[in-house]
Amino acid sequence: MESQRQIIERLRAAFQSGVTAPLQFRLTQLKSLLSLLEDNEPQILEALQKDLAKPKFEAVLSEIDMVVNDLCYTINSLPTWIQPSYVGKNLATKLDDCFVRREPLGVVLIIGAWNYPLQLILAPLIGAIAAGNCAILKPSEISRATERLLAQLIPKYLSQECFAVICGGAEETKSLLENRFDHIFYTGSQAVARSILQAAAVHLTPVTLELGGKCPCLIYGRLDMLAAAKRLVWSKFFNAGQSCVAPDYVLCTPEMREELLPAIAKALSIFYGSQPKQSEDFSRIVTDRHWDRLMALLGKTQGRVVMGGEGSKEDKYFAPTVVVDLDGSDALMQEEIFGPIMPILTIESLEQGITFINQREKPLALYVFSDESQVVNMVLERTSSGGFCSNDGIVHMTLPGLPFGGVGASGMGSYHGRWTFETFSHRRGCMLRGWGLERISMLRYPPYTESNLSW
Ligand code: NAD
Repeated sequence: MESQRQIIERLRAAFQSGVTAPLQFRLTQLKSLLSLLEDNEPQILEALQKDLAKPKFEAVLSEIDMVVNDLCYTINSLPTWIQPSYVGKNLATKLDDCFVRREPLGVVLIIGAWNYPLQLILAPLIGAIAAGNCAILKPSEISRATERLLAQLIPKYLSQECFAVICGGAEETKSLLENRFDHIFYTGSQAVARSILQAAAVHLTPVTLELGGKCPCLIYGRLDMLAAAKRLVWSKFFNAGQSCVAPDYVLCTPEMREELLPAIAKALSIFYGSQPKQSEDFSRIVTDRHWDRLMALLGKTQGRVVMGGEGSKEDKYFAPTVVVDLDGSDALMQEEIFGPIMPILTIESLEQGITFINQREKPLALYVFSDESQVVNMVLERTSSGGFCSNDGIVHMTLPGLPFGGVGASGMGSYHGRWTFETFSHRRGCMLRGWGLERISMLRYPPYTESNLSW
């Protein structure tokens, strides 16, 4: 069997041969990736069902369609994106050709997380291919069925010379990271991201870090509370809360909370019935370890559980749970929840809500629910986050025109649509100069006199 080093060397040789450079090669690979998704939808859905009991609708929407949309957008736009962009010139460069060329970086490494195990590997891969790179893909070992399926399908559909899947967990990833790559694209936790950065520093490799954090949802102003609760519940409990952009906690006034709680209870019952455990539309927690982590977190809260709170470890079910009467020092507020627990904290004013958010790490996404545009604009102006969406959750990440990524502790760099292509490209500033106007050039040469300054 080929070692990691041999695989990387094979891909490097392919990259240096120039095989990935032509537009036609890139488009053929992207179309092949599209066929992979079209031909294998049942197998993909089965793998996602095994890994997370993902409902078919959620799997199609968030794993398959998102990648398909991004692929179609990229295939249509790539002939334009790869054109050099010409820049403004001054008198001294008037006769030159001055432009920016997007060039491939080389052999890139894409490391994915388990919560959207297909999308988090294939969405970055689109840009890596589009920009003309070779790529090693390292899916999460935790979502094993999807990892195996990717390892089986990628070599069938993409050039084996240029693309490879390497399976394994922390140990395999650490040894992979000892090698030199031209870019590392990592999705996962902040803790592991620190070791990715350290490994990248050895080779001065640029990195993109797609991380998580606690995404707030600030609810303020007059609202159709049932509609608000439906949007909140859908975005929180989609994939059983295991989304990096899920609203992690809610901030609202005590009066609004009284209206919100019955609306949430109603939305939960409309979506998942009186027994969410029996619902086919509610995912499961990925592993026993994560189930234990969530139960332990709930055990430590000083808050009051007003909905859910129970679960069954045998089938990794964790009920949609709502906790109230807690403050910012509570156990639930110290780390990203990444599961179906929704704490609701009260604030006395919009100002206090904004201060609460700004006292914490910058989140990956920030949500504000209000029918007053001044409230929305004020929160937008006075806070910072990777992405922002008013009056809904999660949906901003489905649009390939918007850059998706974090800021501060929630990540560095961004992707989706053209942004993925840019992430995996080097922007080479080029000036093509001829031999004309030497009389003007002479004005900058020593020996310098006062007349040099008037040049
Ligand atoms: P993780 O960090 O445990 O694992 C991610 C990847 O890192 C896996 O491929 C894994 O094999 C590898 N890995 C694990 N330990 C490693 C180590 N010590 N050294 C090197 N590699 C290692 O993360 P996770 O639990 O799989 O994902 C959850 C986190 O990811 C959450 O914080 C979530 O918010 C975040 N996330 C972010 C995005 C985003 O787009 N910003 C998307 C999904 C998930």
